[in-house]
Amino acid sequence: MPDTLPTIETPTIEAPTIEAPTIETDVLVIGTGPAGSACALTLVRNGIKPMVVNKYGWTAQTPRAHITNPRTMEVLSDLGVKDEALRHAVPHTMMGENTFCASLSGPEFGRIPTWGTDPDIARNYALASPETNYDITQNLMEPVLLGNAAHSGANVQFHTEFLHYEQDTTGVTSTLQNRLTGQKHYVRSRYLVGADGANSTVARIADLPLEGTPDKEGSMNIVFNADLSEYVAHRQSVLYWVIQDGSDVGGLGMGVVRMVRPWNRWLAIWGYDLNVGQPDVDEEKAVKVVHDLVGDDTINVEIDSISFWKVNEVYATHLQDRRVFCMGDAVHRHPPTKGLGSNTSIQDGYNLGWKLALVIKGRAGESLLESYSQERAPVARQVVTGANRCIRTFFPIIGTLGLMDVKSPEEAKANVMSMLDDTEEAKARRDQLIDAVAGTRDVFDNPGIEICHRYESAAVDADFSQKPEPAGDLEVMFENTTFPGARMVHAWILKNGRKVSTLNVCGHYRFTLFTGISGKAWSGAAETVSHELGVNIETVIIGPGQKHQDVFGDYRRLREVEESGAILVRPDQHIGWRALKLSDSPAADLRIAMKNILGL
Ligand SMILES: Cc1cc2nc3c(=O)[nH]c(=O)nc-3n(C[C@H](O)[C@H](O)[C@H](O)COP(=O)(O)OP(=O)(O)OC[C@H]3O[C@@H](n4cnc5c(N)ncnc54)[C@H](O)[C@@H]3O)c2cc1C
Repeated sequence: MPDTLPTIETPTIEAPTIEAPTIETDVLVIGTGPAGSACALTLVRNGIKPMVVNKYGWTAQTPRAHITNPRTMEVLSDLGVKDEALRHAVPHTMMGENTFCASLSGPEFGRIPTWGTDPDIARNYALASPETNYDITQNLMEPVLLGNAAHSGANVQFHTEFLHYEQDTTGVTSTLQNRLTGQKHYVRSRYLVGADGANSTVARIADLPLEGTPDKEGSMNIVFNADLSEYVAHRQSVLYWVIQDGSDVGGLGMGVVRMVRPWNRWLAIWGYDLNVGQPDVDEEKAVKVVHDLVGDDTINVEIDSISFWKVNEVYATHLQDRRVFCMGDAVHRHPPTKGLGSNTSIQDGYNLGWKLALVIKGRAGESLLESYSQERAPVARQVVTGANRCIRTFFPIIGTLGLMDVKSPEEAKANVMSMLDDTEEAKARRDQLIDAVAGTRDVFDNPGIEICHRYESAAVDADFSQKPEPAGDLEVMFENTTFPGARMVHAWILKNGRKVSTLNVCGHYRFTLFTGISGKAWSGAAETVSHELGVNIETVIIGPGQKHQDVFGDYRRLREVEESGAILVRPDQHIGWRALKLSDSPAADLRIAMKNILGL
C-alpha cells in the first residue's frame, strides 16, 4: 500500500449561467395584508389581474386588527365580499360595553358603550352610513380579500420576498427571491405597489418623506384560549381595559384583554419599556400575565402565541415615487386606538385600484395616479395624529383613581379604596371618574375620521375656495355634503321597490351620475361622454315612477343641487363633480368634468 493516496485532479465544472427569469405583469403588489389584498381585489374587480407576493407562506396568522368600521363595510359591499366577511364577524351588538376594571374578576371602575352602540352616537352613524361596525379579525379578513382576488385572476405567490426595485420611464423592474429555493427572479411591471407593512422595503427604497416619532412604546400580544364567559358574558364587549400595577400598554397605563372569539379566545396586550428592552416571555410568564389580568389563577389558559410590536406615530407626506405607490402601514403607523390601521389600509387599496386600472386600460392620463397621494396622504396624517392623541384620554381615569406614579400595589389599592370615603374630596373624585370614562369616547366612536374624508385633488373637479366650512369637528362628527371630494351622501331610496342606500347604487367599478326627473337630459349626456371616453357612466334618475325613488325624501334633503342638477360619483364612491342645475350643454359640461378627473 502506498503511504499516500494519489492526488486526483477534480475537473472544474463551470456553473451554467442561467438568466434569472423575468415575469411581466401590469401591477406587482408587495404584501397580502389588508392594504395589498384590498388593492389586488379592487384591481381585479376593475379588470386588471395583478401579481401579488408575500414573503411568508400564508396570510396573517394572529388576530391583530379587528374593528371593521362602516366605511370599510361599504367598501367590502362594493367589492362584493361583504356577506363573506360577515360570516366571520362578531355581531355589532356584542361589541359594546367597554369595561374599565382592576381585573376581569375584580372591581369595575366604569363602562362606556362603544363602536356606535351608544344610542346618541348610533344616530350619527346611522345618518352617515348604511353600514355599521363589526369585529372581524385580520387573520379572517385577509383570506376573504385575497381569496376573492385570486379567484378572479390575481396571481398570488407566497414565500416570495421582494428585495429591490429599479424604475425607468416605461416600468419597474423588481427583484424577488423565492424563500424556499433561494432563487431570484425579476418582475417587470408597469406599476409597483408597496403594501409591505410597517418595515416597508418599498417605502425605504422610494425614500418617501416620513414625519413623526417611531418606536414610542413597546407592546406584547399574547393570544390565548380560555373560557372567560363567567367574567364577560354579562357585559359583552370586544375590549376590557385592566388598570393594574405593572400594566402599561402603549403608554395607556392599562393592560387590555381583547375578545377574539366570544368568549373562549383572547388577546392580552401588555406593555413594556423600550428603554429596558424586549422582555423575555416564556409560556409560564405569559400565563401569569393572563392570570393577573383576569384576576384568577385557577383558570385553564392555553397560550397560542406571543409576539411583540411597537407603538409608532409616523406618516408619509407623499405616497408615490413615479411608478411606485405605497399604502397601509408602509405609510401610516399608529397605535390601535380608534381601530383605524387595517381600515385605512383597505381604503388606500380601494382608492388606488380603480385609478391604476383606468390608466393601464388607456382610459385615463397618468396624472390621475398623482391624486392617490394627494387624497390619501392627508388621511394618513389624520389617522396617525388622531390615534396617538386620543391615548391621552385614558390618563384622567388613571389620575382620578390615584394610580399615577404610585410606588407599590398597597399604595395603589389604598388610593382606589379612598374613593369610597364619605368625604367631599372622594365625592368629587367619583364624579370625575364618571367624566373620565365618558371622556374616552374619542377612542371608540369617530364617524367623522372613519367615513368623512373629503378629498382635494386633481381627480376632483371643483373650486375648492367654495368648499363649505364644516359645522363641527369632522374628525369626530360626520357631515353629509355633495361638495365634490366628499364620499357620496347616504340616503335611503327605493330601487325597484326595495330599500337601498344611494351608496348601494354607485361604485361597482364605474362612474355614476345621479339626477332627478327634470335632469333626464343628463342621461343622454352620460351616454355620449361614456361612449367617447370608453369609461362607463351609469345614470341614476331618482324620482316618482322611476326605477329609483326618493320615498323618504332623504335624497332631496341631502343632495344640495336642484332636481335637475347632477352629482357625478367616481368608482370609489367619492363625488368627482356636481352641477347645481341642468345647463344648456350637459354633454359638454360632463365631458369637461370627466376629462379633468381622468387627467385627459
Ligand atoms: C394589537 C393590534 C391591534 C390592532 N387593531 C386594529 C384594529 O382594531 N383596527 C384596525 O384597523 N387596525 C388595527 N391594527 C393595525 C393593523 O394590524 C395594521 O394597520 C394593518 O395590518 C396594516 O395592513 P398592511 O396591509 O399595511 O400591512 P401588514 O398587515 O403588515 O401586511 C404587510 C404584508 O407585506 C408582506 N411583506 C412585508 N415585507 C415583504 C417583502 N419584503 N416581500 C414580500 N412580502 C412582504 C407581509 O408578509 C404582509 O403580507 C392593530 C394592530 C395591532 C398590532
